[in-house]
Amino acid sequence: MAIGRRTDIPEDVRLSFMRSLYGHRTTLWFGLIAHLVGCGVIFLKTRDVAYLWFCVGFCVVTSGRLFDMSRFDRARTEAMTHEQLNHWEGRYLIGASFVCLLLGLVCFYSTYVARDSFAELTSLAVLMGSVASIVGRNYPSAAAVLLMSISAIVPVLLGFFLGGTRFQMVAGLLLVPYFLTNIQMANGLRRFLFEAIMGKHSLSIVAGRFDAALNNMPQGLIMFDGDKKISVINDRAIEMLRIAEGTRIQGRSIETVLRYCSLQGVFPHNDFRNVSARMDEILSGLRKRDIFQFANNRYVECIGNQREDGGPVLILDDVTQRVEAEAQIQHMARYDSLTGLPNRSYFDTMVRSLKAQNPKVPYSGLIVIDINHFKHVNDTLGHHAGDELLRLFAVRLGELDSKCFVVSRFGGDEFVVYVAKLDHHDDIEAIVLHILDTVTGIYKLEAAQILVHVNMGVAICEAGKCNVSDMHIRADLALYEAKSNEHKKWAIFEEAMDVKYRNRQRLKGELRKAITDCALTVVYQPIVSAHSLRVVACEALSRWEHPELGAISPAEYIPLAEEMGIISEITRFMLRQACLDCAQWGGEVGVSVNLSAIDLANTNITLMIADALSNAKLPPHLLEVEVTESAIINDGYNTALVLQSLKNEGINIALDDFGTGYSSLSYLNSLPLTKVKVDRSFVRNIVEDRRSLMLLRGVTHLSHELGLGVTVEGVETEEQLALVRIAAGADLIQGYLMGKPMPVASVRDYIGRPIISSSGSVLPHHSST
Ligand code: C2E
Ligand code: CA
Ligand code: CA
Repeated sequence: MAIGRRTDIPEDVRLSFMRSLYGHRTTLWFGLIAHLVGCGVIFLKTRDVAYLWFCVGFCVVTSGRLFDMSRFDRARTEAMTHEQLNHWEGRYLIGASFVCLLLGLVCFYSTYVARDSFAELTSLAVLMGSVASIVGRNYPSAAAVLLMSISAIVPVLLGFFLGGTRFQMVAGLLLVPYFLTNIQMANGLRRFLFEAIMGKHSLSIVAGRFDAALNNMPQGLIMFDGDKKISVINDRAIEMLRIAEGTRIQGRSIETVLRYCSLQGVFPHNDFRNVSARMDEILSGLRKRDIFQFANNRYVECIGNQREDGGPVLILDDVTQRVEAEAQIQHMARYDSLTGLPNRSYFDTMVRSLKAQNPKVPYSGLIVIDINHFKHVNDTLGHHAGDELLRLFAVRLGELDSKCFVVSRFGGDEFVVYVAKLDHHDDIEAIVLHILDTVTGIYKLEAAQILVHVNMGVAICEAGKCNVSDMHIRADLALYEAKSNEHKKWAIFEEAMDVKYRNRQRLKGELRKAITDCALTVVYQPIVSAHSLRVVACEALSRWEHPELGAISPAEYIPLAEEMGIISEITRFMLRQACLDCAQWGGEVGVSVNLSAIDLANTNITLMIADALSNAKLPPHLLEVEVTESAIINDGYNTALVLQSLKNEGINIALDDFGTGYSSLSYLNSLPLTKVKVDRSFVRNIVEDRRSLMLLRGVTHLSHELGLGVTVEGVETEEQLALVRIAAGADLIQGYLMGKPMPVASVRDYIGRPIISSSGSVLPHHSST
């Protein structure tokens, strides 16, 4: 079988065979010498010139073969195709067969023509010697072996048959099995070598592919032998560990490599022990995987895989992106994005861990901080400024020592501080004052500078007695207390607050019931003209007579109704009742109804008022609504629209309690008001304090300048009345002196006649109220 027919044999393997055929020129020379000596000796013995011609023949054929060989040497063998290889194999075959044919012919000539026994013996010996080289030299080409064998044996047999004796014929036939054995041997040798070469060849292909896969994988790979010495390391691992090119890694231990890496700065030098110990755990199978932080903030995950035979395999994966993304997600889940403070859920975790660190502290505390009028900042300066304030506020709070405090923003403007360690109950005061001092003051925002005040609620807890959420509820109650008392900036929770809270909750339920049962009533307080001292209007005030607790002040239940979102039901009732009652007062006396900030945020208020007026057939000019500054602050733009539409209907609009809130003069100018009601706090001291009187007069004048009427509230004495009328120049006066809030049935007594004599004393028929 010719190697050229084996198309499954790759060209490079065939080429190596072809090279072996065309190589070994020395055997060719030895062969030629043997042939020439053989023929030469026979010539000397027989003097037969034919043998000299045979010598010439051998020389010519060998020259031809040598020439062919040198041509093969020059040919571009690297990229030879099967066709080219077939061509060269064919040429070789011709040369080799010619030599064999010549050897056969020498034997034939000696047996059949010369018939010399020396010539026969010598030529046969030379042939047999040469035949041995057929196998040794030409085994790669089955065709060569066969053709050469046939070329040699046929003339020999022919010689024996034509010219030899019977014995010679038999001896000649013995050559046949010899040649067949030779062919078999050559085939066996070739097959064996082919298989070995092909095995090696496919092994090198697999090895090449394995190499390519290994060096192209995105992960680093280090394979260890049974002694935990590195046997394989891919390019990526070399790159990740910053191993210099040409450094011998195979056969080294991981410790040596890590030491090298620490010197190269792959990870901090003092991390060496830690990294080495953790890596050992992976290699010995105690731990499956671990993430190492490398220099330049890279994170590499090492995964160890144990092999049954041999050492472990270590995979190095650069997981920086994953770690960073996880860290970011974790940060987002734990921290408030605006202030960077821990959020509510992470606050709990931090508190727990701080508690665990301080197991023996006697007390801990929780402080809830509320920024006063934060909503006002948001509404007037915009949400951007609000956010900026919260950030700056958080920065100030962040100055607290994180070993003792956990600071968090729970949302909105609610900040919470956990105080991990209090030796005594009273220690909290210094902490609260310190926080108060830290956060109170001027904040420089991009758009403005603002002065910030806060309220704080504090809860203190004996170690192990309550949890954070209980403390929070208590601190909230304390905060509520602090906020509802204008002289208090902070309060510590006391049980009484809890009782108060429960009572409030109870009262809320009962208020709801009172409203649905129409248990609220209306009383009227007269408002008199400063000029005529006659009643010109009455303010409608609601009353609630609790079956057990007696009369409850509207100052208490109105804020509750606002909190509960049911204030508009009270307003609706008050408007309807006040309009119905006023319609009975002869058209000379108006009625004034208080609106809540929540009413004004609701555009239905205009419909509610129109409904009350039409229900009572009351002309709009007899109705006045009283609004407070807080309503305007909440949503100035919307409030102005609602008020304007009411004013357009002919309804009067009074700004109530002027002087208690911001008392911003700009409201007086920009809102569609008809009247200002100056709070009774302006009146309280006017008799004794000249400056108070001046202030009241200033407000009255200013309002008059803006075209607004002025009602002064809270006039209780005749001296106050005189000053309010004469010195302050008020238009209308309201107060206990003129009449306390009274049931509708009593109002009639006041209508149409002066309540007070022109000298300022209360007339007798009114003094009963
Ligand atoms: P306000 O609108 O400023 O009502 C005047 C309050 O001052 C009334 O208290 C009245 O009794 C009291 N007052 C009047 N003259 C004098 C005086 O000479 N001296 C003193 N010390 N007090 C005087 P009241 O009725 O307890 O109402 C308290 C607050 O409750 C009201 O203040 C008002 O803001 C609110 N309110 C009352 N009824 C209603 C209502 O129907 N709707 C709304 N939204 N609020 C109401
Ligand atoms: Ca009022
Ligand atoms: Ca008032």
